[in-house]
Amino acid sequence: MKAPSWRRAVLKVGSALIAPDETGVSTKYLLPIARFINECRERGQEVVLVSSGSVAAGRKHIPFEHQKLPVTVRKAMSAVGQNEMMAYWSRFFDFPCAQLLMTHSDLRDRARYVSIKNTLNRLLEHNVLPVVNENDALATDEMKVGDNDNLAAMVATLVDADALFICSDIDGLYDADPNVNPDAKKIPVVEQIDESIYSLAGGSVSAVGTGGMRTKVEAAEKATSHGIDTYIVNGRKGETFESLLQGEIPGTLFRRQSDPISNKKHWLRHTLVAQGEVLIDEGAEKALLENGASLLSSGIVDVQGDFDRGDAVLVRSANDTDAIAKGICQYSSHELMHIKGQQTEDIAEQFGYSPITEVIHRDDLMILEDS
Ligand code: GLU
Repeated sequence: MKAPSWRRAVLKVGSALIAPDETGVSTKYLLPIARFINECRERGQEVVLVSSGSVAAGRKHIPFEHQKLPVTVRKAMSAVGQNEMMAYWSRFFDFPCAQLLMTHSDLRDRARYVSIKNTLNRLLEHNVLPVVNENDALATDEMKVGDNDNLAAMVATLVDADALFICSDIDGLYDADPNVNPDAKKIPVVEQIDESIYSLAGGSVSAVGTGGMRTKVEAAEKATSHGIDTYIVNGRKGETFESLLQGEIPGTLFRRQSDPISNKKHWLRHTLVAQGEVLIDEGAEKALLENGASLLSSGIVDVQGDFDRGDAVLVRSANDTDAIAKGICQYSSHELMHIKGQQTEDIAEQFGYSPITEVIHRDDLMILEDS
């Protein structure tokens, strides 16, 4: 069976691969992963890396004898380990790496969510490899996602990825516990995640990171429901990456539940409640309907309602009452009132920095007749 093709993926690398002996970062398993990332990029595929291991990497710098780490020690380890980990990743590539540290509270906050999304998209456009981790050094428990499997699924949704690879030290999901049952068989493809799949995941926990099989299945459920094919593969085996490059499925594939585009359109149309309206001129209407363009400030005539950055809005022609599109607005209604009708270059002066060109990016816009 061939793996589905993809254009943008999130690759999650677990602590057990970054610092397998808990004596700092090791190149042991990272080289084949780096080669894989390189090869994908050469093929024109985009990769976002979600890398765990800051705490595991930092352990050697802050010796602590007891297994259960106090929170402050853990934070200190992550701060020093994160730095070391980034240095390793940067060394493997001849293109730049960018570090993004975030927490659940950043992803929950609409304005910060949009800002992270824009930054990630700009980095990818400029061929930089984004390396994401949780901001462990600062985050309190209430602010955290807690494990990087779920974080990777959220990032995959955020960047509209079509594949998520969770690389760990396990071969995939088995129909029984392989440590106990010698007849346990790996499940190559999961079509639908339900309770029976969760019961197979059990409570297995990795010794080094915070995730186990359960968090991986949770991540797979999140991602597949957003139209993202999710793989659990063994990153300790070099041949895993060879197989992936050949289009094979070396671990377990959790199949996406729908097409990512139609899924997003469905979400935009049916789930997001429009908070206001953006009225546009004829030129902008033509650009949206006939040229598949994004909405720019120059075509905006008026703004109605009170909305924040990242809110959904309806777009309609100033001469008509029917909405023609719905999309996620990169500016608040207040900001739009100031910039409507202006060319992007002129807005820079008002804002004091170069603004986002698209008021509504094409990827975040759906034409209502289309649906
Ligand atoms: N963010 C944690 C770290 O860098 C890892 C969390 C996880 O293992 O899932 O150490």
